[in-house]
Amino acid sequence: MKRVMIRLLFVLSFVSSFVPGLSALAQAAPCMVVTLTGTQGGPSSFRGLAGSGTMVRYGDDSNDCRGVVLQFDAGRGTSMRLSQVGVTPGQVDAVFITHVHSDHVDGLADLLQLRWMQEYKLPKIDVVCSADAAAGAGFVMSCAKLVAHTADAYIQSGEIAQRRAEDKARPVGGPADLVNVRTFASTDAPQVVWSSGDVRVTAVRSAHVAGHASYRVDTPVGSVVIGGDAGNDTPAPPRASSTSAQVEALARGAQVIVHSAIHPVMGPDGGTGFPAPIYHRQSTATDLGAMAQRSGAQHLMLTHLIPPLEADRQGPYRLPKGAITAADYETAVRAGGFAGGLTVGGDLSSVRLPVRR
Ligand SMILES: [Zn+2]
Repeated sequence: MKRVMIRLLFVLSFVSSFVPGLSALAQAAPCMVVTLTGTQGGPSSFRGLAGSGTMVRYGDDSNDCRGVVLQFDAGRGTSMRLSQVGVTPGQVDAVFITHVHSDHVDGLADLLQLRWMQEYKLPKIDVVCSADAAAGAGFVMSCAKLVAHTADAYIQSGEIAQRRAEDKARPVGGPADLVNVRTFASTDAPQVVWSSGDVRVTAVRSAHVAGHASYRVDTPVGSVVIGGDAGNDTPAPPRASSTSAQVEALARGAQVIVHSAIHPVMGPDGGTGFPAPIYHRQSTATDLGAMAQRSGAQHLMLTHLIPPLEADRQGPYRLPKGAITAADYETAVRAGGFAGGLTVGGDLSSVRLPVRR
């Protein structure tokens, strides 16, 4: 029996070596790729960096890990970065929004407009985000309204009507008609907010602005946490860390953490004049290093860097000691005690699981 099995395996491997389809089937192994689609920190623009965003795709070797394509935030230029890795707006299965600051959603209208113009025959796209959240100062942050009004300027300008006159099959309400908005009441306890096949997305509430959420993607080959701009629930020192306790709990057992980072040089002692409350609502690179070490992550990807690499200013705030480098971010992360893999994000930096040896 054993000899028969060995002979069968030999025949299969021999056949698959010259039949490409069979070869792919024999070797198709599941995989996940995490790609930073934009690493600009905050609303400034610097040297062409795209606005905040992370793509997570899961599949297997036979489809280049593209069975499911998820986009977390869609800052300025997201569709341009996606095009550089061969992903069209129509290939994105769902967009998850951490919060409705413009630097995280500038690219959403563009993504949806392109889909409406060119790929409208595809199923609706899910946009997943927090339900309307009231802030203490008496205003409401509303992802649902952001999506509902995403193309209002193009409706008002007449463009939507004009393009429908060219192709009446385009949905009458414009890009918002293509969206399935799925809001959730965000909670400190993780809750599943989206799933498809082997892929599950969980969300928690985290502090930054009202309605901010952080996400975790679980797949059979591993898990990634996308912290967004999360900070600690205590808005300023004294506190144990600038990082979020909810994100840390969410990250336990995840292999990869993607998180916005601010360098301590922007702190109140750094002489930049950067407003302290804005500094304190981000997570510092050092505290992220400590959090990643505590949670057992194998890899930390810093994104949304404040300040950007090689920049001598963050928007209007000048760095008195000059620009900082990726090595400066790494020094800050290692000072937090993290011993794992580190990516100091540039646009299109990526990490693959399982890691190719
Ligand atoms: Zn931001």
